[in-house]
Amino acid sequence: SQASRGSEMAALSPNDIIAVIGAGAMGAGIAQVAAQAGHRVRLYDNREGAAQAGIEGVHRQLEQRVAKGKMAQEEVDAIIARMTPAATLAELADSRLVVEAIVEDLEVKRGVFAELETLCGPDTLLTSNTSSLSITSIASGLEHPERVAGLHFFNPAPVMKLVEVISGLATASETAETLHATAAAWGKIPVHASSTPGFIVNRVARPFYAEGLRLLQEGTAAPATLDALLRQAGGFRMGPFELMDLIGHDVNYAVTRSVFYAYYGDTRFQPSLVQQALVEAGRLGRKSGHGFYDYR
Ligand code: NAD
Repeated sequence: SQASRGSEMAALSPNDIIAVIGAGAMGAGIAQVAAQAGHRVRLYDNREGAAQAGIEGVHRQLEQRVAKGKMAQEEVDAIIARMTPAATLAELADSRLVVEAIVEDLEVKRGVFAELETLCGPDTLLTSNTSSLSITSIASGLEHPERVAGLHFFNPAPVMKLVEVISGLATASETAETLHATAAAWGKIPVHASSTPGFIVNRVARPFYAEGLRLLQEGTAAPATLDALLRQAGGFRMGPFELMDLIGHDVNYAVTRSVFYAYYGDTRFQPSLVQQALVEAGRLGRKSGHGFYDYR
């Protein structure tokens, strides 16, 4: 039952190896979280050099913490020593938990999970960091869908506390409970949710982006004005435009489209043509150096 969840299952042991697929904004951060919790982590990305670059990015950030006196050099060295790039998916076979954080595309994710099933034993927990896609759908067709779940971190993963543990129709309660306990052991605040489009946070947050984009499209005010207003007077940590720039417009737009179609075109979730144009132009936000704001 819901009430007893999270109480019986133990967290994964620090001896368990964690695999992360996708070394982008989220994957590298998730790998860092697991390595900081004491796990050995294997990071795989199908883009040549991306996994190594992801680990180097984590290293640079941690060195900044050392420079500020917030972390010991030995600790950083130990964390980085626990993180290794993997050259193939097959190198992830001995992991106890896989966290997939690749492109927000159902068919691509399903392909990766099908391949993982041929590589990993039935006890390996297979999870997706998807923001919006159906966990039920990602798991369907697999021989062991009971060990598949969503493990949804927020950006930046090492900083943000919340983790949504998403159960699809076939997810075993033991799977969800183990993930919940593990996320808590990693210093996160996990919450159970079932697989509805956008889950909790990305469902509730859609109107925040959508109304910002509508205000912009109607010429109400500039992004910087709207961001400052929502931050200073509205009490939000970030305004919608700077937040979309942080998330990445390709990712944010894909999530909106996915939630919109999942709710049969409910106009509350209608994707924005302004954002579509940014994606078409390759102005993806911070990661490409240009979005609503210029970072170059
Ligand atoms: P990103 O574009 O920064 O990184 C994705 C990485 O995956 C890239 O390095 C790419 O080379 C790699 N990749 C793509 N296809 C692959 C494949 N088939 N096999 C191996 N690697 C592959 O994206 P991101 O922002 O890190 O998002 C990743 C996932 O996390 C998405 O599902 C997204 O919805 C979700 N998410 C994103 C955010 C956010 O704020 N950006 C927050 C929470 C969840």
